[in-house]
Amino acid sequence: MSDSIVLDSSSKKDNPPVKRQIHPGSGRRKPPVFAKGRQLENKAQEEIKSLLGNKSRQRDLLIEHLHLIQDTFGSLSAGRLQALADEMKLPMAEVYEVASFYAHFDIVLDGETAPAEITVRVCESLSCEMAGAQDILKDLPAAVAKNVRVITAPCMGRCDCAPVAEVGHNHVEHATVEKITAVTENKDIHPAKVDYRDYDAYVADGGYKVLRECYEGKYDRDEIVDLLKNTGLRGLGGAGFPTGLKWSIIRQQPKPRLMAINGDEGEPGTFKDRHYLETDPHRFLEGMLIGAWVGEVEASYIYIRDEYPAVIKLLNKEIERIYAEGLNNGIKLDLRRGAGSYICGEESAMIESIEGKKGFPRHKPPFPSQVGLFGLPTLTNNIETVYWVRDLIEKGPDWFTSHGRNGRKGLRSFSVSGRVKNPGVKLAPAGITIKELIEEYCDGMVDGQEFKAYLPGGASGGILPASLGDIPLDFDTLQEHDCFIGSAAVIVLSNQDNIREVAMNLMRFFEDESCGQCTPCRTGTEKAVSLMEEETWDQDLLKELSTVMMDASICGLGQAAPNPLLSVMKHFPEEL
Ligand code: SF4
Repeated sequence: MSDSIVLDSSSKKDNPPVKRQIHPGSGRRKPPVFAKGRQLENKAQEEIKSLLGNKSRQRDLLIEHLHLIQDTFGSLSAGRLQALADEMKLPMAEVYEVASFYAHFDIVLDGETAPAEITVRVCESLSCEMAGAQDILKDLPAAVAKNVRVITAPCMGRCDCAPVAEVGHNHVEHATVEKITAVTENKDIHPAKVDYRDYDAYVADGGYKVLRECYEGKYDRDEIVDLLKNTGLRGLGGAGFPTGLKWSIIRQQPKPRLMAINGDEGEPGTFKDRHYLETDPHRFLEGMLIGAWVGEVEASYIYIRDEYPAVIKLLNKEIERIYAEGLNNGIKLDLRRGAGSYICGEESAMIESIEGKKGFPRHKPPFPSQVGLFGLPTLTNNIETVYWVRDLIEKGPDWFTSHGRNGRKGLRSFSVSGRVKNPGVKLAPAGITIKELIEEYCDGMVDGQEFKAYLPGGASGGILPASLGDIPLDFDTLQEHDCFIGSAAVIVLSNQDNIREVAMNLMRFFEDESCGQCTPCRTGTEKAVSLMEEETWDQDLLKELSTVMMDASICGLGQAAPNPLLSVMKHFPEEL
């Protein structure tokens, strides 16, 4: 790609500065240079025809086919993109636009050099940055061989094992230059095997009993909806919409209907969905199938981020088993692979991506429950939300609501990272405070470090000082402090951390990940970064800019992006 900023070991003698990779979807990519009136190349045409074989050429499979081409040839050449456009009967401009939107596609235009054989992505999101990602980025290019390129990347959903790098599709946790170099030398580029509870083990433990009972008529669909309403279960991807209400709304929509599962867990600091999928995937699949049965949908699309290759592999295998056992009950299950775009975690952007398009969030209303995937009413749910459905039906609402602290009810899966001794996914009572979470679930702070601040809801949920460490962590408890819990991604900061630098890291992330569709976000994040880089912040101007972004951005990314900088001004004035 012409403007991906890449540290290629072949040019390491020039000692290039480490720069962030510009997100291709942000509208800042250089215009492509195609030969005018490019003719189809016979060789490329034959390659693509043969590669696609008898696979469908339908429009929504564009991203899947781009993956197939890149996995086979290592990159996307202009000639092959043109051949794909021809095969799928799409304009070349559309194929190029989609391919260049997603960070994981490497386009090689005429006259450009193909990327190195092995790509190392080094995560520079907050938890990895705090654990030394920049030191790795400084030293790694000089340590690897010429067939390796090193680029930066956003959160890989392994913040409890920071710093993290990805060699090909193989994640290196607690990464060091030596560990990464050894992996590149061995060309160990495939995802590590995951030891999870498979179908037989899940069934032996009572798995799929509830689903079978649904199919056999033991439960009524509306009874399940009422039960979910009584549990108070809310969407655990971040938005917190009541799940029972969502399931009842879809039942009021005309058929045919669809389901779309959001497994694009890209919020920096969040890794709970990956944890549940890598340990007990059938609990998720059973919950999803119960939702599909209640919603009487024709198909369920499962969208998993490309940063989770092991999950994609195991789900493909286990879905085959579901078909073999007839548990899908005639419903089509379709696993779709993301391609490196944070914004596709927004439900309407995810829907666009499943349709094979750029992940541009849609204007709402209409909401996906009315006009969703392929224009049909669509039930959208997060992975963890449906993961709990079997237990809620089996154990009853009281089991769930009997948990909780400080006046709150239910359980929450906190993804905890940062300066604690024992980070990880912590299933804890809703309403627990950060101080309780650190002491009771994380074995306290790292030795010698003092609790200073925390992010209660990932990159977009704001930053709170330790003096506000007794607030119950739950939906609706943090608004008065201009923060929110979102997907419960908690990053703990200590006296070693500079809060202003933390906010800079987060704003740069939003700048990179803005899809570029609307001006307040596209230009606002860029402007905010440049204002925050000034030695003295122009606080009035930053507040004015924040107001425009929050009021006028199309989706949650632009609306929430100012939260970290506003938190710094409100809670940490001494750092400015
Ligand atoms: Fe794209 Fe606008 Fe959403 Fe930003 S706020 S991600 S530019 S739609």
